Amino acid sequence: MPGLLNTVLEKLRDIYARLESPALKEVVERAELEEYEDKVVVRVPDEYCKFAFLKEIYPLIKRELDVSLIVLTPSEDVIFELSPKYTFKNFIVGKGNLLAVRACQVAVENLRKKSIPYNPIFIYGRVGVGKTHLLQATGNRALERGFKVVYRSSIDFAEEVVSAIKENSLPYLRDFYKNVDVLLIDDIQFMAGKERTQLEFFNIFNHLYQNNKLVVIASDRPPKKLKDVMDRLINRFEGGLVVELKLDRITKRAIIKEKLIIYGLPVDDDIIEYIAENTGDNVREIEGFIAKLKAEKGLIYTPKGEEKRREIPPERVLEEVSSYYGLPVKKLLQKTRNRKVSLVRQIAMYLVRQVCGLPLAKIGELFGVSDHTSVLYAIRRVEKLKREKPEIGEEVEFLKTKLLEV
Ligand code: ADP
Ligand code: MG
Repeated sequence: MPGLLNTVLEKLRDIYARLESPALKEVVERAELEEYEDKVVVRVPDEYCKFAFLKEIYPLIKRELDVSLIVLTPSEDVIFELSPKYTFKNFIVGKGNLLAVRACQVAVENLRKKSIPYNPIFIYGRVGVGKTHLLQATGNRALERGFKVVYRSSIDFAEEVVSAIKENSLPYLRDFYKNVDVLLIDDIQFMAGKERTQLEFFNIFNHLYQNNKLVVIASDRPPKKLKDVMDRLINRFEGGLVVELKLDRITKRAIIKEKLIIYGLPVDDDIIEYIAENTGDNVREIEGFIAKLKAEKGLIYTPKGEEKRREIPPERVLEEVSSYYGLPVKKLLQKTRNRKVSLVRQIAMYLVRQVCGLPLAKIGELFGVSDHTSVLYAIRRVEKLKREKPEIGEEVEFLKTKLLEV
C-alpha cells in the first residue's frame, strides 16, 4: 500500500503531540519506522520500549487506523537482508568460532585475487551460536570492499523461486544470483524437501563456484545430516570447508562481559559466573537473560556474599532527596509539569529502585502512577542523564552513597 508509512507516521505525530507522559514521549521519539512490503516495522531499542509501545501507543494507533505493525527489538530483528549491526568488530572470537571467523575473513581478503582458499564455507552449529551474525559480518566486510553481496535465508530464497515460477521470471532470478560476488545462504536446513529450490540453488552455486565467487552457508547441522537434500548438493558442501561453530567456556564468559557492558550493568566475576551458570551455550539466551535481569532487578543485583544487605525504607530515600534538592516530599510524590521538579522526582524513583530494590509496580504506587512503564522510563532517563550530564551523575551517586552508608 503506497503511503502507508507516511500515514502511520502522521498518526504517530498526532499521538505524540497529545501524549502527556514524558516517558511515553521518549518511547515514540526512539522508535524508528520502516516500510517493508505491505507492513510497517517499528524498531525500538529494547524490551522496555517494546513493552510500552505495544501497551500504550499501539492501541492508540489501532483506534484510528486499520494497520498491523511489527514491533521489533534489535535482538529479534528479522533480517530481511544485510544489516549493518552485525560486524566482525562486535563479534567476539574464541576457540569455538575462531576457525570459522578466520575462514570467512580470509575468503573476503582473497576475493579480488580470485583465489579463495575454501569455497564454499559451510558453517553449522546449534541455535544462538552466532551463525547469522557471522554470515552477516562476512557480507558487510565484502560490501565495504565494494563487492556485490546477497544474503538470503533459504526460506526467502525458496519463496523467490516459487514466485519466479509463477510469474515466469526464472531467467531474471538466475541472472540476479549469478551476478553476485558473495552469496550468503542462511538456515539451509529449511531447503529440505524443496526440490525445485534445491535445483535452482545447485545451478546458481555451480556458476558462482566456477567463477571464483564466494558462497557461505549456515546450517543447524552438518551437511551429511541434512534431510531431503539432494546428494549432489551435499557433495558440493563437503567439497569446501565444513566448520562447526561452538561456544566454549571462555568465549561464553567474554560474551557475557561484553553484553553486560552494552546493557549498562555492573561487570564483575560473580555476576558473569552467575549468568554463565544459568544459561546454555546460546548467545540469544544469554542476551535474554541479561535483559530480564536488568528489567526485573534493575541494578540491584547483589553478588554472592552481599545478599543480606540491610533494607532501606523508601521513606528514607524520599527524605534524603527532598532535603538535598530543597523540595517537600509531598511534591516528589505528585505528577508535575515543572521540569525541574519532574527531574528530581525521577531521581527519587531511580534511587528507590536502586537502593531499596522495590518492584516497579510498588514504586509506581508510591509515586502515584498507575502503570510501571512510567517508572521504567524515569529510571532510564536518569541512567541516560547520568551518562550525558556528569553533574547530575555526581549528584545521584552522592545521594546513593549516602543512603547506602551504614
Ligand atoms: P544463530 O544464527 O546461530 O542462531 P545469531 O547469529 O542470530 O545465532 O546470534 C544470536 C545473537 O547472539 C545475536 O544477537 C548475535 O549478535 C549474538 N552473538 C552470537 N555470537 C556472538 C559473538 N561471538 N559475539 C557477540 N555476539 C554474538
Ligand atoms: Mg540464525
